Amino acid sequence: MTERSAVVTRFAPSPTGSLHIGGARTALFNLLYARHMGGNFLLRIEDTDRERSTDANVQIILDGLGWLGVTPDAPPVFQAAQADRHRAVVQELLARGRAYRCYMTVEELAEAREKARAGGPAIRSPWRDRASNDPDAPHVIRFKGPLDGETVIDDLIKGEVSFQNKELDDLVLLRSDGMPTYNLAVVVDDHDMGVTHVIRGDDHLNNAARQALIYEAMDWPRPAFAHLPLIHGPDGAKLSKRHGAQAVGEFADMGYLPEALRNYLARLGWGHGDDEIFSDAEAIAWFDVADVVKAPARLDWPKLNHINQHYIQQADNDRLAELVCEIYAQRGSPIDKDQRPKLAGIIALVKEAAQTLLQLADLTVFATRSRPFALDEKTSKLLTEETKALLSRLRTRLDAETEWSRPELERTIRDFAQGEGVGIGKFGQALRGVLSGGVPAPDLASSLMALGRAEALARMDDALSLLQ
Ligand code: GLU
Repeated sequence: MTERSAVVTRFAPSPTGSLHIGGARTALFNLLYARHMGGNFLLRIEDTDRERSTDANVQIILDGLGWLGVTPDAPPVFQAAQADRHRAVVQELLARGRAYRCYMTVEELAEAREKARAGGPAIRSPWRDRASNDPDAPHVIRFKGPLDGETVIDDLIKGEVSFQNKELDDLVLLRSDGMPTYNLAVVVDDHDMGVTHVIRGDDHLNNAARQALIYEAMDWPRPAFAHLPLIHGPDGAKLSKRHGAQAVGEFADMGYLPEALRNYLARLGWGHGDDEIFSDAEAIAWFDVADVVKAPARLDWPKLNHINQHYIQQADNDRLAELVCEIYAQRGSPIDKDQRPKLAGIIALVKEAAQTLLQLADLTVFATRSRPFALDEKTSKLLTEETKALLSRLRTRLDAETEWSRPELERTIRDFAQGEGVGIGKFGQALRGVLSGGVPAPDLASSLMALGRAEALARMDDALSLLQ
């Protein structure tokens, strides 16, 4: 028998769609728990639904987990490839008298279903107690479930959940085409992979009872179960398209950093006191699946933005520059690679205000423009004779600035306005437009800092002479 002392968890997505954040959180909790216990985290791709499973979705799942930094300790197991082993276990259940061949016709089955739906007993087959029949005639193989008693799942999150055995169908283990069914495959694979803790969405709680019966019939140790409540939208309704992003790839496209999403997902339904931001090492040290809350978690965009902003501040500027360059390229305005160090410098100056990488791209794009560039209409309109005269005097002041730093520049602008007897509003908008050409830009001092003295003054010269 397999050694069961070390904790083994697994994430078992079906590649019938992309990787949703609910799945990503399940994967993360499995990883955290395995790490916390010094065990292993495994991945199983449940690709038995041959029609809906695609290689592209498998890749999306692998990429999504890789991006999020939730990677398994061994290459993934593909469930469909284990079909022979699943069939062998069904034979073993037959031999143990815990399964039977069922020859019910489609009509008989429909009738039994109808009865079960009307509040009758769970589906049993008249073939349940007959002596074994012709293995060559079309049939399915059903599990021979207990008729009475109860199956209790001592769920690590939900507590004790009892199921009356008489309400559990004799589920099909092997279809008439010889394909193993879902609940059987999950049990066999979890057993073979040495899984000790099944941590998954609570939509599988009912399956846990059926699966527990198969473990029992095979005399296999039952793993511990922990069923996670769903993630809801901010309004408390089931997470759906109208709440914005759902897939991990969408969060990446919206400019969230993987470490920020990881931190945020760990906080969804679990927490360590009021700690909002914590490292991976802290999450591993603190995480216990038993501490996951029973109520559904709600997606909270402002909180996610706040956490992302924190991680943007922490992130290396060269890395951010690379990510921002990708965004420029996606937007159809790539910049040269040799501009990247300059961009990293600009990022350092403006990133404080950015909650997402998209915002960071917005905040920096102005500085990467090559001059001279045409001014937008709004800025051109603002450049009246009076404003131009003001800006030209400000240019002289800036040229004479001894210390090109944000506080100094702020002070200079304030002093200049005061000396001129005008509010900053009188020329601020126009200056921003002159420096940026009308694309989004940070506040004046930050914009001047980001550009550097030579570039800032050159842009002012361009604008003032263009409009002479
Ligand atoms: N493949 C199942 C799903 O994607 C998960 C099964 C399990 O975790 O046991 O919902």
